[in-house]
Amino acid sequence: MHENGSQPRSYELLIGGEWREASSGERQGIHSPYDGRPVGEVAVASAVDVDAAITAGERGAAAWRRTPAHERVAILHRAADLADQRADEIAATISAENGKPLTEALGEARRSGAIIRLSAHEGSQVYGDSLPLDANPGTGQDKVGFTLRQPVGIVVAITPFNYPALLVLHKVGPALASGNAVILKPASATPLTALALARIFIEAGVPEGVLSVLTGPGGTLGDALVSDPRVRKISFTGSTGVGERIASIAGVKKLSLELGASSPTLILPGADIEKASSAVAAGGYVNAGQVCISVQRVIVHRDVEADFLDALRPKVEAIRMGDPFADGTTLGPLIAEREARRVESSIARAISDGSSLLSGGERDGAFVSPAIVTGVDTRQAFAQEELFGPAVAVTSVDSFDAAIDAANGTPYGLAAGVFGGTLSEGVRAMREIDAGSVHLGWTPLWRADLMPYGGLKASGYGKEGVRSAVEEMTEVKTVIMHG
Ligand code: NAD
Repeated sequence: MHENGSQPRSYELLIGGEWREASSGERQGIHSPYDGRPVGEVAVASAVDVDAAITAGERGAAAWRRTPAHERVAILHRAADLADQRADEIAATISAENGKPLTEALGEARRSGAIIRLSAHEGSQVYGDSLPLDANPGTGQDKVGFTLRQPVGIVVAITPFNYPALLVLHKVGPALASGNAVILKPASATPLTALALARIFIEAGVPEGVLSVLTGPGGTLGDALVSDPRVRKISFTGSTGVGERIASIAGVKKLSLELGASSPTLILPGADIEKASSAVAAGGYVNAGQVCISVQRVIVHRDVEADFLDALRPKVEAIRMGDPFADGTTLGPLIAEREARRVESSIARAISDGSSLLSGGERDGAFVSPAIVTGVDTRQAFAQEELFGPAVAVTSVDSFDAAIDAANGTPYGLAAGVFGGTLSEGVRAMREIDAGSVHLGWTPLWRADLMPYGGLKASGYGKEGVRSAVEEMTEVKTVIMHG
């Protein structure tokens, strides 16, 4: 055991449930973004391995869809129990490769068992409809029609680095539960958590052919996986740029794209300033702001702006940067120094565009101290582009209508939060904000694993959340019996 977390682990590729070296024999080290120490090693897959995984997946999908749902449930429940037992180990792996504080990683890892159980349940509750065919003019009562919902076949799951367990399980859980074979391509920076979870599914009894994990470069593997006609569904979470690439080459298959964001939180007159400032001080900086539903923008009514900033600033300044494994650390490094430099230059550009730095914003290696940037015009790049870093942009407005316009004033639409306002403003906010989820009384940074989850506009399409994912990973067949 390394003094700072899990033992470095070495993995092969998982191809149809079998561990094997990459066809190229190539391997790659994984390093901690905090101190650069090696935390593991993985195989580097190529297009040859993609073909092997898809070929295995075809066999796996054919067998798994014929496996009764109650047997799939039993296997997934075993996996959930193993995930619960190994939560501490999974958390240490997440912190080691992603750099988030161990307390945050524990919160993530401890959701694993519950997501797998919820998936098992939803995947076994796949109902069809009976069709009232005699309501169709000219059709008598001699016909019976109904729908069957069936697994799509092979699901390709492509995941980002920021929640290496959660976002993997939100795809693999529902896909397996509803009878599909899955090929997982985890983020290049954080493959170890995904591989540890895959090991759990294999130990729990997921049969031959059904689960593959391919580690390696997103571009090469992604293109080969996405364009293959044997794949019936792609479930992608990542940046809008890669999402656009996937959409352009996928061909005829189902797509779910969970993409980038620049999520707003409205602070209106009447807001509970203490609650709103505490929620923003968490929601803007959790996981160093590398959360798709991070509070990137605070849109505050001028009447409450001074009080809000007075309450927010000490809370943000109390955030403790440091070793992800040290007690008391609440902010780790970004995923790479390159990313910290990008955030640093976004803040510098905001200031040259006329905004002011109220607090933080200094870079040290891969760390950026938690920043509050005020006086941000929604048209500025700092509001328009996804930041994915530990900073909040504050925009002041004079009216509720201006707040809604600012909330809707970017290409994105993933999630939004609202504090304060009148009841009718709350109702207008839920109807008029273009976002996949709207939280009244909280920031966008909140998710229950069962809720439909996914963005509008450039934030993507399709919904996750276990029941929604099962729906997107199955397809409807209509059956008519002609008497
Ligand atoms: P990314 O787009 O760089 O990578 C995501 C995954 O795609 C990785 O596994 C990567 O290897 C792979 N990939 C890279 N090129 C590819 C290609 N050409 N074809 C197929 N796959 C390819 O994203 P990231 O930096 O890992 O994650 C951050 C992004 O993810 C942010 O934009 C964030 O908003 C987004 N995100 C969205 C949600 C959501 O639910 N909407 C959740 C988490 C993260």
